[in-house]
Amino acid sequence: MDHFLYRDGALFAEDVPVNEIAASVGTPFYCYSTATLTRHFRLFDEALEPLDHLVCFAMKSNSNQAILKTLAELGAGMDVVSGGEYARAKAAGVPGDRIVFSGVGKTATEMRAALSGGIRQFNVESEPEMELLNAVALSMGVVAPVAIRINPDVDARTHAKIATGKSENKFGIPIARAKEVYARAAALPGLEVTGIDVHIGSQLTELEPFELAYKKVAELTQALRADGHEIRRLDLGGGLGIPYTRSNEAPPLPSEYGDLIKRTLGHLGCEVEIEPGRLISGNAGIMVSSVIYVKNGEGRDFLIVDGAMNDLVRPSMYDAHHDIIPVREPAPGTEQAPIDIVGPVCESGDTFAKQRDMPPLASGDLVAFRSAGAYGAVMSSEYNSRPLIPEVLVKGDQFAVIRPRPTFDEMISRDNIPEWLL
Ligand SMILES: *Cc1c(COP(=O)(O)O)cnc(C)c1O
Repeated sequence: MDHFLYRDGALFAEDVPVNEIAASVGTPFYCYSTATLTRHFRLFDEALEPLDHLVCFAMKSNSNQAILKTLAELGAGMDVVSGGEYARAKAAGVPGDRIVFSGVGKTATEMRAALSGGIRQFNVESEPEMELLNAVALSMGVVAPVAIRINPDVDARTHAKIATGKSENKFGIPIARAKEVYARAAALPGLEVTGIDVHIGSQLTELEPFELAYKKVAELTQALRADGHEIRRLDLGGGLGIPYTRSNEAPPLPSEYGDLIKRTLGHLGCEVEIEPGRLISGNAGIMVSSVIYVKNGEGRDFLIVDGAMNDLVRPSMYDAHHDIIPVREPAPGTEQAPIDIVGPVCESGDTFAKQRDMPPLASGDLVAFRSAGAYGAVMSSEYNSRPLIPEVLVKGDQFAVIRPRPTFDEMISRDNIPEWLL
């Protein structure tokens, strides 16, 4: 459920008409709903009751400061995957003890920054990383809290580019080697092993892969405890999918996911962390775009909009589907006809949808790409020298630009001309 609904024939973001935002900031732009973010965070938070738990928002899905602050004020922790994300989390006021640091390639610089700024735990993904973190912590005279990310070798049954829990993926330590690696970690004086971490992929639309993985985590917890390790925390990753189409998909609910966690791991007495990204931010955002032209091709019509693959890359990168709806609600009974919806970028891959049934639209009409709040703005670029599009946050009847559109001059002035060209 989200808060982008038609009212009196026009699309609203909460209590704000989307066309009013468009008139104020210009298109294309991202628009997020505070009520939706809040609702989704709370669903997870409540789903894990009564376990001792922390919901760490995977901020790689959306790392705008205003989004982070909105969630942090609700009590969210953050899952960060880079020094830049760590800095953003801190800048948004998230205390270090609510930040977990994931990622396969943490550098010594990133480790030092997190150790000096405060960190709940590093999710360590390899033995070389473990050795480096130990050395960095010792050089600073501190002890680094760690969970070790194990790769449970389960098939998440999602798009290959976002599956992370099979043995052929680059993530984590093979579960078969876990005992050996934990023994090594326990012998390193710069590390304090707190628990186990697992994350099997993104946009999972079934609970079964989670169940397989979490059962393996439960067994491993007991095996490691038997070896004398104090396993007190389980980080269960993110990955619960969202419905990208209104019609047929019905991924599991956070409450069902929470029940699964309690059923498979509740008896272990561990503190539980989860790292949802998409399910919190995905349906909390839309991308609003204007129709530039309707072009009639040979046997095919094209709706050319001012948003493009550089603004929202998911369709070209993951073959992802986004529902695209007109901002002015079509009258009941309006005929729909198939059309290709494309952006202006000079690549055939700049196609949002092929042969999508749409009501008649004309130049200047606004359309909204739904479910664009996750992996949208964060993955955007200035390809074709198209300035990053603005982000807007709505709360009730208020809205604010939370990242402005740079001017061409601002975009150009980031480049420097070397002396020899002056
Ligand atoms: C990407 C990622 C997440 C979030 O995945 P979602 O599908 O957005 O919930 C969580 N944890 C880790 C380690 C990740 O890499």
